[in-house]
Amino acid sequence: MARYSDALCRICRRETEKLFLKGDRCYTEKCAIERRQYPPGQHGQRRGKLSDYGVQLREKQKVRKIYGLLEGQFRSTFERAERKKGVTGEVLLQLLEARLDNVVYRMGFAPNRNSARQLVNHGHFLVNSRKVTIPSYVVRVGDVVELKEASRSMGIVTDSISKMEHRGLPAWLELDAQNFKGKVLQVPTREDIQLTANEQLIVELYSK
Ligand code: SF4
Repeated sequence: MARYSDALCRICRRETEKLFLKGDRCYTEKCAIERRQYPPGQHGQRRGKLSDYGVQLREKQKVRKIYGLLEGQFRSTFERAERKKGVTGEVLLQLLEARLDNVVYRMGFAPNRNSARQLVNHGHFLVNSRKVTIPSYVVRVGDVVELKEASRSMGIVTDSISKMEHRGLPAWLELDAQNFKGKVLQVPTREDIQLTANEQLIVELYSK
């Protein structure tokens, strides 16, 4: 499956805002957005005003890149959100937030969602004491996400947990860092989802 393999900071620069794709570096002055807040490329500083369609497209691309999904995966998550009760844009974000790779990242077990996805893929996490290796697995209220005992000395995890103060734990999750486990307390509200996105623009884009 084709995955984005270019420099991650180019994605942020394309959207002209921090998307926190790397981890530690995103919180330092080395962040590319801190130094060059314009799109990459020869004409990056000369791009004109976007059309309505362009604005909607950029918003969708931004959210898709934040969660690290391919277009097909993002589209099917949107279609799933459409079939559920509630405001489609908000349900879409709730489904994205409830992905296991995102929960692992939000709980602080990984410095970014890419690493979280890899850790889940490699079988390092249990959900309700059962191994789950599917990053798109959607957690539910009451689920307990736990790092396998044999994986608890991994440097990437211990380092990430020790730097959790950068990000903070969202109110819908609970973390027991000493025992490398966390719990889903509730479905995240829009306020709980720390994302500067206008999800309504994505709904408008896909409704054309
Ligand atoms: Fe984006 Fe992080 Fe790179 Fe800054 S350091 S541009 S936030 S990926």
